[in-house]
Amino acid sequence: MTTLMSTPEIVTVDELTERCDSCGAAAKLEVTLPTGTLAFCGHHANRNAGKLAPLATLARVEKGFEWAGIAQ
Ligand SMILES: [Zn+2]
Repeated sequence: MTTLMSTPEIVTVDELTERCDSCGAAAKLEVTLPTGTLAFCGHHANRNAGKLAPLATLARVEKGFEWAGIAQ
């Protein structure tokens, strides 16, 4: 039996108004996790992509930002 890694539903938005929960920079990504919602700047979104993508059910990505967590 093969277990596939789940991937979040991706929604592209024009602009995110949130701030990165790690460093306070303008957020490029907001993910909905079982524990709540987290926002990340481009740097932290990609640094944590491997951890976030399998857990997130929904990812809101700012237009123009290529998140490493999106399966190509
Ligand atoms: Zn950050």
